[in-house]
Amino acid sequence: MNFLVTGGAGFIGSYLSEALLAAGHSVVGLDDLSTGSEKNLVNLKGKSGYSFVNGTMMDEDLVRDLVSGVDGVFHLGAALGVKRILERPYESLVTNMHGTEIVVKAAAARKVRTFLASTSEIYGKNPNQPLNEESDRVIGSPLLVRWAYSEAKAIDESLIQMFHQMNGLPFVTGRFFNTVGPRQTGAYGMVLPSFVSAALAGKPITVYGDGSQQRVFGHVLDAVDAVMKLFFNDKAIGHAFNIGGEGEVSIKQLADGDCGDWIVIEDRDDSL
Ligand code: UDP
Repeated sequence: MNFLVTGGAGFIGSYLSEALLAAGHSVVGLDDLSTGSEKNLVNLKGKSGYSFVNGTMMDEDLVRDLVSGVDGVFHLGAALGVKRILERPYESLVTNMHGTEIVVKAAAARKVRTFLASTSEIYGKNPNQPLNEESDRVIGSPLLVRWAYSEAKAIDESLIQMFHQMNGLPFVTGRFFNTVGPRQTGAYGMVLPSFVSAALAGKPITVYGDGSQQRVFGHVLDAVDAVMKLFFNDKAIGHAFNIGGEGEVSIKQLADGDCGDWIVIEDRDDSL
């Protein structure tokens, strides 16, 4: 089968494209290389069955054209990373809402199966652990830009659900929890690559807040495996699933690793 992967040059999108090719499918990757990178295509470019389009999912004609040639869509394209969203809040919000609308509408017009990448961020600051797919969203003031990513992704989830109900669009949503692995960049604020880069450069590791905030980390190859299993399972259609690892680690524990003496605790809203 032929698939479109938006965000195809991204961290997860590139591994997913490799997995689809390995399973015998053809893949068109779409990416504007804003946070994705051609370096991530190292195992893809030139491979038979793979093509890459350097373009934006905000281009409605392009998206419609690409969707017209595929049997399914994996929509991973998004503006993400705390740092980028805080630096470019409006652009991020529009990309995450309108970009998804364009992709979902094109997919709905042809009723091709669609995977929507969502995020654990939609749960906001719900203190109940563990979070399950029915857990409530507990979100702060809309005047705080940091919630805009959570809001946009939640609206994306509602949007695809509406197209499912109205047009019969088959979809499955995956809510990624912290996903890590080779190729992940720290440039947009993600904690693990940020810590690794600092350590490799002999610089102090910066922990925001008191470091007691906890996260569950999952490996990107496990996340991709989950996406594939969900996408090709008819029973998953019309539902949303949490995708993440097991076992909580505090950010202080993560930083402590081998570099205990180097940690700098920065007084900042740790929930960012
Ligand atoms: N974090 C940190 N130092 C960094 C980057 C992140 O202490 O250099 C913290 C951040 O405040 C958050 C946690 O690590 O509490 C995870 O951050 P990330 O942006 O990777 O993921 P998310 O907050 O979306 O779970």
